[in-house]
Amino acid sequence: MQDLERILQLRKIIEKYAYEYYTLDNPSVSDSEYDRLIQELIILESKHPEIDTSSSPSQRVGGIVLDSFNKVQHKRLMLSLGNAFNEDDLYNFDKKIKEILKKNEIEYICELKIDGLAIAIEYEKGLINYGATRGDGNTGEDVTNNIKTIRDIPLSVSEKRVFEVRGEVYMSKKVLNELNKKRSENNEELLANCRNAAAGSIRQLDSSIAAERKLSNFMYYLVNYEDFSLNKQSDCLKHMKKMGFTINENFRICPNIKAVIDYIKEYQDKRETLEYDIDGIVIKVNDTSTYKEIGYTAKTPKWAIAYKFPPKEVMTTLLDIIFSVGRTGKITPNAVLSPVRVAGSIVQRATLHNEQFVLDKQIKIGDTVIIRKAGDVIPEVVGPVLSKRTGLEKEFVMVKNCPICGSVLQKIDDEAAHYCINTNCEKKNIESIIHFCSRDAMNIEGLGEKIIEQFYNLNIMKNISDIYYLHNKKQLIKDLDGFGEKSVNNILDSIENSKKNSLERLLFGLGIEEIGEKTSKTLAKKYISLDKLRNAKYEELLLIKDVGDVVAKSIIDFFANPNNIKLIDTLKKLGVNTDYLGVIEVDENSLFYNKTIVITGTLSFIGRNELTQLLENKGAKVTTSVSKKTDILVCGKDAGSKLEKAQKLGLKVIYEEELKGLIKDE
Ligand code: NAD
Repeated sequence: MQDLERILQLRKIIEKYAYEYYTLDNPSVSDSEYDRLIQELIILESKHPEIDTSSSPSQRVGGIVLDSFNKVQHKRLMLSLGNAFNEDDLYNFDKKIKEILKKNEIEYICELKIDGLAIAIEYEKGLINYGATRGDGNTGEDVTNNIKTIRDIPLSVSEKRVFEVRGEVYMSKKVLNELNKKRSENNEELLANCRNAAAGSIRQLDSSIAAERKLSNFMYYLVNYEDFSLNKQSDCLKHMKKMGFTINENFRICPNIKAVIDYIKEYQDKRETLEYDIDGIVIKVNDTSTYKEIGYTAKTPKWAIAYKFPPKEVMTTLLDIIFSVGRTGKITPNAVLSPVRVAGSIVQRATLHNEQFVLDKQIKIGDTVIIRKAGDVIPEVVGPVLSKRTGLEKEFVMVKNCPICGSVLQKIDDEAAHYCINTNCEKKNIESIIHFCSRDAMNIEGLGEKIIEQFYNLNIMKNISDIYYLHNKKQLIKDLDGFGEKSVNNILDSIENSKKNSLERLLFGLGIEEIGEKTSKTLAKKYISLDKLRNAKYEELLLIKDVGDVVAKSIIDFFANPNNIKLIDTLKKLGVNTDYLGVIEVDENSLFYNKTIVITGTLSFIGRNELTQLLENKGAKVTTSVSKKTDILVCGKDAGSKLEKAQKLGLKVIYEEELKGLIKDE
């Protein structure tokens, strides 16, 4: 396609999206997709200076003002902001400012870019004159009555001069969740995100709706700063606060662009913990007296730029829902998605967890869905975009049988998930071998998913213990396509090495439900050997920090299963280490550290040997007779002479109930 043709095409698409976003508050594409199209248009237009851009959306601020609102003419244009998407863009911005101001270093102020709707409010004689949206930058919509319902915005101020403040009206994440919960109960369409919710609420003709929506506001711009003789943006923020406005306190003065980049990184991480959505960071030159010199384009001030965080949420089509079987037999519905880029990688699949999750989110096959990356790593389906339904979508139906072995699925206790409980289910077995060999478990290099599946199907390896018999099948493997002497030896070496792993890797590899890497390590450190853990009582497990009822039960259930005991015994016979080999870190702050302790009486929740081991792991010395050198007497039921002696000597005595609490707390 020729550039000119593409330019016209892009302008048309962008116009449509801008109308949906700014005017209808109901976008049909993600912000990142919109930004991508705008960037493409800007690049093409800059390649063709002969083409008139005066009516191009690349030069325009905002959207069409609805006729249903009264109009407000902005006294000073309400502009948009230039965008930065990476560090290079920021360095370029910095370079240009330095050139204009002929300075080596520029002081910036970084502010969070609140994802809401820009508003302008004029006060006169201490009262609100009007409140308006940005509109097309020139003319905004009069939303005075709606703005007056926002608690963060003072209805009166002591300043009697005419002045204008600008800021962002937003909806907090909590309010959005509550609102959507109610809307779901009433079968109403859910609001897609905080920005649309805020914009949709403020741009209501009926101000009681805006009042109900519990909106908030942060002010970030005192338009007539010169009238107040303020020449730093940071001072403007402080002054607005003094006048009674709410400002976002997370702003920071940065002495140079490097400090700006640090701030951006910091808030990219903190973003999820904030109570409101931010979509980037606004970087402004702090010295307002330089603004005129730095200047403006038709659309943006040149003294500020908005760094946009990489996209977190995108829309795509849910093509199908397929089911997978995990190593524990858990059946997971998975979304098959039309490929889409989210936070730097292409996503085609996302877990839908279980039947209830799909039903709760009202997801149907064929839906347009919103995808995001949880913690920037795992893709998740946020929910369907109900407004995009065509009526052709198909209802989701949970399978009744295992998609691999066909056995009837079951629900265990009150869990939401369905399980295949057939011990011979192939997929379950393959998944458990894959998990056992994985990097964070036994780390057997060369035994990747494909090879494990191949060996399984060729009957070379049917379960975990078969891994340690593979050396007997060396010739057979060598004869397979793609294997040679060297690759087979590498696999066998890696298997041999895995026998020397410390207990936590084995524990994790065994795939005990609810036991992740961290808990495996905690358990390995506490029990030192697999045999000791195997004999642990439920009450005793509960004493371990981070181990609750579910985890403790899962451990007990695992060791109560004869198949698991058989597997552990076989592994031991084959030479797999079952002891913890790491350093036992002694906590010097422990109450028991460096103390001489005597145990007496009967303890109901823990065996005496186990308690001795536990106290020794905490740096204590456990002895049998009470003397002046004893620091603590641990006392169970029916204690006799040792307790009397300790009391006579005035020693510290810890009774069973207290001991339980102390061990758990540490
Ligand atoms: P912008 O979002 O890039 O930046 C300007 C806005 O930032 C200001 O108007 C203000 O509202 C806001 N802001 C928040 N905190 C601020 C602070 N501390 N200081 C100054 N300003 C602050 O520009 P825009 O013109 O408002 O919107 C363009 C963006 O909107 C696009 O980049 C795109 O992400 C989104 N958009 C999306 C669609 C869509 O269809 N999804 C359509 C149109 C626009």
